[in-house]
Amino acid sequence: MLTMATNGTIPKEQWAMVVEKTGGRTVDAACVYKQIPVPVPGPDEVLINIKYSGVCHTDLHAMMGDWPLPVKMPLVGGHEGAGVVVAVGELVKDLKVGDLAGIKWLNGSCMACGFCRQADEPLCGEPRLSGYTVDGTFQQYAIGKAAHVARIPQGTDLKAVAPVLCAGITVYKGIKESGIRAGQYIAIVGAGGGLGSLALQYAKAMGLQAIAIDGGEEKGATCKTLGAAAYVDFMTSKDLVAEVKAATPDGLGPHAVLLLAVNEKPFQQATEYVRSRGTVVCIGLPANAYLKAGVFDFVTRMITIKGSYVGNRQDTAEALEFYSKGLIQAPFQVVGLSQLNEVYQKMHGGQIVGRYVVDTSC
Ligand code: NAD
Ligand code: ZN
Ligand code: ZN
Repeated sequence: MLTMATNGTIPKEQWAMVVEKTGGRTVDAACVYKQIPVPVPGPDEVLINIKYSGVCHTDLHAMMGDWPLPVKMPLVGGHEGAGVVVAVGELVKDLKVGDLAGIKWLNGSCMACGFCRQADEPLCGEPRLSGYTVDGTFQQYAIGKAAHVARIPQGTDLKAVAPVLCAGITVYKGIKESGIRAGQYIAIVGAGGGLGSLALQYAKAMGLQAIAIDGGEEKGATCKTLGAAAYVDFMTSKDLVAEVKAATPDGLGPHAVLLLAVNEKPFQQATEYVRSRGTVVCIGLPANAYLKAGVFDFVTRMITIKGSYVGNRQDTAEALEFYSKGLIQAPFQVVGLSQLNEVYQKMHGGQIVGRYVVDTSC
């Protein structure tokens, strides 16, 4: 039993970008723009008319089959979807038709296991992952478990808020996990990309000094605009480790490192330049990557290395609150949903500064 849609007209068919097979680690398995049925929400779910969706590098990993986690096929990717609630299941009490809401990577979890009970739901053993194990936001109508849907305040610009729904939540959580305090230095690796550009804004809002690491002059200029105290170009630097350390006033290196890059090398370098007793937070998920750190250095410098994976419902609310206060303004470009394949090509080539957001109406 569903409540009525606002205008009473939820269509039967909708436009979507559909992956029909993974690329076997090439970007060739492009998506097909086609009409598919509009899904019907269950009792504890909502149907959201997605207006805009950010494109995360995770969507590209999914399409290429990069990870040792089976992906649904055929698949509608996407997990940074912002839109309007058009139908709610009968058990849903705190969301109504017309509310603004967002679908994030964690579409749902069991809510009964030890992790869910303690609001550590990203660690649930039975997660529903948007755009991976369930269809995501590269379609006009998507389903989310009501408990996990992001509540977006009325009046919010949906295209600008979309990247917060994965990139924003993830980097905000990662910064918290690092244990860093206001005034300290954080290296952000992959700072010119989607997660990185938001990380620079969260770092600034949280009173941190950011050392941005990425490649190319355009990304460097953007990182400076977003608040970076220093920029180190991994493509031209002769000694990246020394340069990152030199960017801190006492030369001892940053107190924390946020690793957002999509290849393995920077994961090895981070333990070399992080300050003694500092924390390296791994967030990027390059295919087949391993972490290697010299045990002697690691022990005698008391370094912490940890992973950080999206955020829980509270992190979501907090990350959105920073946005609503006007503190998070990262660059994004809007293109039609039908142009998603071109976005993937650019992303694969490392050519995207900030985020691409797709408009589901074209
Ligand atoms: P993106 O493509 O927008 O950005 C990646 C950036 O890394 C690019 O700007 C690229 O130039 C830069 N880069 C590449 N090699 C580098 C190097 N050696 N040194 C410094 N920078 C380098 O990707 P994104 O959407 O920001 O996602 C980044 C990664 O985070 C992906 O692997 C994605 O799957 C992962 N991710 C993880 C979580 C999580 O919860 N842990 C959540 C979202 C995304
Ligand atoms: Zn993501
Ligand atoms: Zn659970």
